[in-house]
Amino acid sequence: MDCIFCKIIKGEIPSARVFENDKVYAFRDINPQAPVHVLIVPKTHVPSADAIAARNSDLVAAIFEAIPEIAKSEGLTNGYRIITNCGEDGCQTVKHLHFHLLGGKRLSEEMV
Ligand code: 5GP
Ligand code: ZN
Repeated sequence: MDCIFCKIIKGEIPSARVFENDKVYAFRDINPQAPVHVLIVPKTHVPSADAIAARNSDLVAAIFEAIPEIAKSEGLTNGYRIITNCGEDGCQTVKHLHFHLLGGKRLSEEMV
């Protein structure tokens, strides 16, 4: 499968890793939108939030269990934002489920 995030997880494309365990990989976004912009992905390919079901929701739980640890290691003591874009209207560009962790400054109130 020609998935850029699967290639990053396998190490075929380099990335700046910030966290990893058996289910989760997290790395810095190549085009950061905030002082801290980390992408958190399941190591197993899931296309988007729209493909989450009972068979794979353990991966989502693992991601959300990792988030406080990543936020702490990134120094986000004053809060942060988690976003997942889904499908065309959600402007999802990479079709491998990922959560954006954004912080390090006061974020815009305009979007949610
Ligand atoms: P989306 O728009 O699908 O929610 O977010 C995809 C994100 O992946 C974008 O913020 C984009 O900057 C990031 N991205 C795309 N290709 C790469 C890459 O090769 N390496 C890294 N680190 N980030 C990438
Ligand atoms: Zn993938």
